[in-house]
This record gives sequence, structure tokens and C-alpha cells, in this order.
Amino acid sequence: MSINCLSDLDLQIASLSVHADDSYAMVSDVAPPLHVSTTYNYNSDPSKLKSAKEHDLRVRDEQSRFIYSRFGNPVVERVEAVLSAILNGHAVVYSSGLAAYTAALAYYNPRRLSMTDGYHGCYGVARIFNRFSGLEQVPLYDDSVSTGDLVHLETPINPTGLSLDIAKAVEFAHSRGAKIIVDATFAPPPLQDPFKFGVDMVMHSATKYLGGHSDLLAGVLITKDPQVRLALLQDRGLLGGAPGNFESWLLLRSLRTFKLRVETQAKNAGKIVAWLDSAIKNNEIPALTKVYHSSLQTDEFVREQLKSGLCSPAFSIEVESVEIAKSIPSRLKLFHHATSLGSVESLIEWRAMSDPNVSDSLLRLSIGVEDPDDLIADLKAALLSFTAM
Ligand SMILES: *Cc1c(COP(=O)(O)O)cnc(C)c1O
Repeated sequence: MSINCLSDLDLQIASLSVHADDSYAMVSDVAPPLHVSTTYNYNSDPSKLKSAKEHDLRVRDEQSRFIYSRFGNPVVERVEAVLSAILNGHAVVYSSGLAAYTAALAYYNPRRLSMTDGYHGCYGVARIFNRFSGLEQVPLYDDSVSTGDLVHLETPINPTGLSLDIAKAVEFAHSRGAKIIVDATFAPPPLQDPFKFGVDMVMHSATKYLGGHSDLLAGVLITKDPQVRLALLQDRGLLGGAPGNFESWLLLRSLRTFKLRVETQAKNAGKIVAWLDSAIKNNEIPALTKVYHSSLQTDEFVREQLKSGLCSPAFSIEVESVEIAKSIPSRLKLFHHATSLGSVESLIEWRAMSDPNVSDSLLRLSIGVEDPDDLIADLKAALLSFTAM
């Protein structure tokens, strides 16, 4: 079955998010139904029944498109059709971003994992693999990296939202016979497409921008190679990382408005970062000492990677003291003090609460779809309230 049935129409992301799964509809409903079944009727024609020895479970043909929902179900199939189209490869969906990362490590089974900074949970997964296979963690660009190893690059990187050079990491990995996976959670298309730089695999925590409503956990791996996709599907069926039916349905629903949300969030963030940056330069807000965001980086590679000029809606600021960092969230009216990012509502987090590797005076912001001027006014009032201290 073709992954992107509409590819010959050369549609853009906004159209693909709404239509890439049209041909997978099994009923005439315009809105995709929620399928809750875990098991499916076999063919009623005995002559069409094949034993498991005769039939590759990974191949979803007419006779066994759905068997048992750990191996695939109608909603996951539709979500994967949409994600394949908008993420520019073959998408395999998992129950969380870390389940996707676990699947990637299980697939590549590297001896060394070369990575520096980024999402702390990925380090945790790698530590578990150390128990299984002796997987060794080494820094990005470490001299020991060689054939059979995996380079992991996260960009823009958590929690700052700063960009790292994808082309440079690809050149490094491939020159040593290693593979490279990019965690692109912070900037999904249309902001960034790591495949343009020759990466082997892309991962997203779909809990963030793809889901976008703080109500589902999911992850996705994207590969350009149909054989890798089949291997990932087989592994997923056995490791049990398949996404839930309801979460997949929520994700499909969320994807319809994906581009609208992400572009609005990115534009809002750009406006807020520009205001924060000028406030620092003009010494308008004593409590504010730093703002980190790809839009403030001047390196050429950043412009190449974030071609549309829109950067991640998530970024970080630093304030004068730990006390201020802890108090700001409670003085904001339009930001929830919570972890995570990517959703329609703006969030702020005193990041030291969930990431042991960051400065105590750092706050991570995830900008939502509210009016940017309202968000700026809220931030300004909260940050200025410390001036008298
Ligand atoms: C959230 C996140 C993850 C983990 O995703 P879950 O869906 O929470 O499992 C991985 N990488 C990055 C960059 C993230 O922000």
C-alpha cells in the first residue's frame, strides 16, 4: 500500500494534514471514526486463509490488513499516512517519544551512542540499553565514533531552543560509518526538515507540536527507507510500543490543524523573543539577563535549517536569581507553570525542577496560540514586578 497516495498531486503540508489519509477511510464518515477493537475478523473465505509460515505479518495486504491492534489498526494506519506525508518519509508511530527513541536504539543496536545535551529522558533510555548491550555513551564528535555507532543530534535543542549544525553532524557520522538520528521535536515541518541534510532517521515526540493540545502521548520515527520501516513495524509489534487507539485518534484530529498551530506559535514566539531581546539590550527589565532562541543565532547553518525564517516556539530565558526564577511562574496569568511544550496554551517551567543539567535561574517557555501582545504584556508585568526587590 502506498504511504502517500496523494504524492502525485504535489500537495503542501496544510493540504496533506487534512487529506493524506483520505484513501484509508473504511467507512463513508468524513470525520475518521475511533476504532477501539484490539482484534479483527479473519477472512470468511477459507481458501484465502494462510498460516503464519506462509504469510509475513508485517505486510498489510488485503487478506490480513488488520489482525491484532499491536500490529496495526485503522486509526494508526491513518495517522501514519498523514505523518509520512508531512514529515517527508515513512512514519512509524509509538506510544510516546521515548518509546520511539527506544525503538530507534533497538533497531540500530549501536555499540556507542554519541550525543551531548538535549532531552534528559533520552540519556535515561541509553542507560537502560547499557544494561542490555553495554551501550556506551560518548560526547557528540567524540573521536571514538566508528562503524556501527549512532550519532544522536537534537536540534533545536532542549531546553534553550538553540540550533545545532545538522550538516556538520551528518558529515561527522557518515565519515566514520556511523548512522545519525535527529530529534526534531522542537521544530517540526514546515519549520525544519532534517532529511534535507541527509540524516538517516528523524524522531519527534508527537506529544508536543504534532499533538499540540496537552492531551496525548505519542512518538514517531521517520525513515526514508521502506525496508527500515518494515523492520521498525516488526519490532514495534513485538516490543509492544504501539500507540493506543484513542491517542492515535486524538493525534489524527490534532494533525488537521497542525500547520495553523505551529506557524502561529512560531510567529508568536518570534515576536516575544524580539521583545525580550530588545528589553535586555535597552536595560528595561533588570530581572531579565538572557534569552536563548535560534532567531538570535547569527550562524549561516541556522538560516539553512530554519529556512522559512520561523524558529521553535519553545525557548529559554535566564533571570537574575534562583528566587526570581521560582517566583515568575506564579506571577504570570496566561502561562501555566508546567513541564512539556508544543501545545496551544503557553507554558513556562522553572526548568531545574525536571532537568538536573540546567542552570537554576533558567526558565523554559513554550508559546501557544494566544495573542502575542497579551503574552508580552503578561511577561512584562511579571518580570517588572521584581524591579523593586
Ligand atoms: C518530550 C520530549 C521527548 C520525549 O517525548 P515523550 O513523548 O514525552 O516520551 C524527547 N525529546 C524531546 C526533545 C522532547 O521534548
